[in-house]
Amino acid sequence: MSQTFRIPILMYHKVERLNRRSTVQGHYVSPALFRKQMAVLSAMGYSAVPLNSLYNPGAKLPRKPVVITFDDGYVNFLTNALPILRTYKFVSTVFLVANQLGGTNAWDTKHGDVEERLMDVPQILEAKAAGTAFGSHTLDHADLQAVSAAEAWHQIEGSKMKLEKELPFEIDTFCYPYGRKTPEVCDMVKRAGYRLACSTEKGQNTEDTNPFALRRINVRRDTSVPVFAMKLLRGPNHGR
Ligand SMILES: [Zn+2]
Repeated sequence: MSQTFRIPILMYHKVERLNRRSTVQGHYVSPALFRKQMAVLSAMGYSAVPLNSLYNPGAKLPRKPVVITFDDGYVNFLTNALPILRTYKFVSTVFLVANQLGGTNAWDTKHGDVEERLMDVPQILEAKAAGTAFGSHTLDHADLQAVSAAEAWHQIEGSKMKLEKELPFEIDTFCYPYGRKTPEVCDMVKRAGYRLACSTEKGQNTEDTNPFALRRINVRRDTSVPVFAMKLLRGPNHGR
């Protein structure tokens, strides 16, 4: 990351109308709101780039780059978000839970959340063909701060191996489930061969940001258009 830049990375989960029985209601951005947010992004002059273009020294970034990320790999990404992204010619990066391709958000349902479907391999390939990039979100959506070092390595390295076995492209980016990490965990991500990793720390990214702890702007159900625009205009180290 040698180039001088200030890059916002947006964090989404579900683009879907709210399920009132959900225990994580903030994660639901309605398709109508998502469409408005993408219109604002476009009107502000942003060009969306895949996350991995930030480390590639050969890649020439647009004047005003933004990275749009989606955690977990829900089917509603394919059905609701992707058609809107395509309208604005925006690409995005989706983080997959390697043991749950075609499965569900088992890590949430075991705590009483509603079940949401995750993309299977054909759906991932369909999104890929439309320009979507993919990264790893571990094997089982593991809390990497809570598990042993051996298990953390298994989740980090094993998910790269599994995804690259099931999918015909390289997995070079990573996202910490729940944003939970330690310096040791960040080092494992680097050693496993990933080039960049997203945290849930808030703010934008500059050339000084640790590429294995990239900051993101959390977009939630209640992120109205003015709040969305304000989050993008804030300085690189601003908190919420
Ligand atoms: Zn997640």
